[in-house]
Amino acid sequence: MRVYPSTTSKSADHNPGIQYPELAFGAQYGFASIGTNNGHNGTSGGAFFHQPDVLEDFAGRAILAGTQVGKSITKQFYGADLGRSYYLGCSTGGRQGFRAVQKYPELFDGVVAGAPVLKQWGHAAYFGYVKQVLGLNSSSITPAQWSAVQSEVFRQCDDLDGAKDGILENPDSCTLDWTPLLCKYNDTAVCFTDSQAVTAAKLFEPMIYNGTFLGPSQNHGFEPLMIASLYSPLVSSWVPEIMRYMVYEDLSWDPATFTLQDILKGIEKDNFDLSTFEGNISAFRDRGGKVLHWHGGADQLITMRTSNLYYETVRSALNASVAELDQFYRYFRASGVNHCSGGPGASFMGQIGGTVGGVDPADNLLLSIVQWVELGIAPEYIRGTKFINDTRSLGVQYRRKHCKYPKTNKYTANGDGFDEEGWQCVEP
Ligand code: CA
Repeated sequence: MRVYPSTTSKSADHNPGIQYPELAFGAQYGFASIGTNNGHNGTSGGAFFHQPDVLEDFAGRAILAGTQVGKSITKQFYGADLGRSYYLGCSTGGRQGFRAVQKYPELFDGVVAGAPVLKQWGHAAYFGYVKQVLGLNSSSITPAQWSAVQSEVFRQCDDLDGAKDGILENPDSCTLDWTPLLCKYNDTAVCFTDSQAVTAAKLFEPMIYNGTFLGPSQNHGFEPLMIASLYSPLVSSWVPEIMRYMVYEDLSWDPATFTLQDILKGIEKDNFDLSTFEGNISAFRDRGGKVLHWHGGADQLITMRTSNLYYETVRSALNASVAELDQFYRYFRASGVNHCSGGPGASFMGQIGGTVGGVDPADNLLLSIVQWVELGIAPEYIRGTKFINDTRSLGVQYRRKHCKYPKTNKYTANGDGFDEEGWQCVEP
């Protein structure tokens, strides 16, 4: 018998609260599956206002209480001791998975944590910073200009990985030269003035305020989607809600006044350790736990660079080599995959409900964590599947193995990049 909780909202595209598709995903493999909404319905941060218990649940207590209750009910229902327990979640659900790894190491034998909102204040900083740089209500740079940036990114960087396939295997390696976009060299309707280029480039530089590093910025390669997402009504509500309900506890706080100073206030407060960035996860290692961490390389909401940073933070905190971390913690970067699912990349990896690419553990993160915990077979890669139009019934478009960090994919064959065996995971 296995216990398998899943939790919380994943993205602007998903319903907040209990993730029923994940419960079905677990149940289809015979897990007793549990979900929690973290103590509020997820449609608004208003539930946090002057309700520290609700905020504490969101920050992490719900994962403890929900799992304890779930395990107890499961045991009573089946009248038997539990076997292994697993966790799977994405976005805030991914952060909650790491909350368990960091603070409640006894809860789970295996954890799958996707696109986690680790360093929560850094992400809040970015959401506010983008509006501060580009404009509160709409971007001063047009969608057509952002499309031109994306095209220029692919012109300059697509083949850094060896294949011009519309996917950046290692977006960190792409440093955009903005010069070709400037109106003085490119007199088109979508060209950038010098000052526009300086402004736009700020979104891809680390956020440092008064000497304090707040968080990494975004990667290149999905600019139009990122801007559209950050200006969506839902994401636009997050910074005002965080400030009004959690940081200042003042309903009159005006988002037009936002500066990164407000984020320093948030970091100072860090309600119930919401940042979830503890690098010393030795207790989880020592109890024999395994964690599979993954992040999409085209995540329009939560930058993959934060996941890179967390891996390095753990490596440093434990003074461990990659080979030593491999014993219990493996991190995979899924190229071209958007927040939790979707995108041009091979995005079906069994990472959340509705994303099963196959029943081989190599194709399925849930089955992979089970195989690692129960058989000791650890994944060297996660194989993603791209279905035509992301529709399973239309058939497979291509498959690609996503590499274990810090390795990155390199195309070494002569085809178009969509042949699976043409790729190799190499040191960057
Ligand atoms: Ca490429």
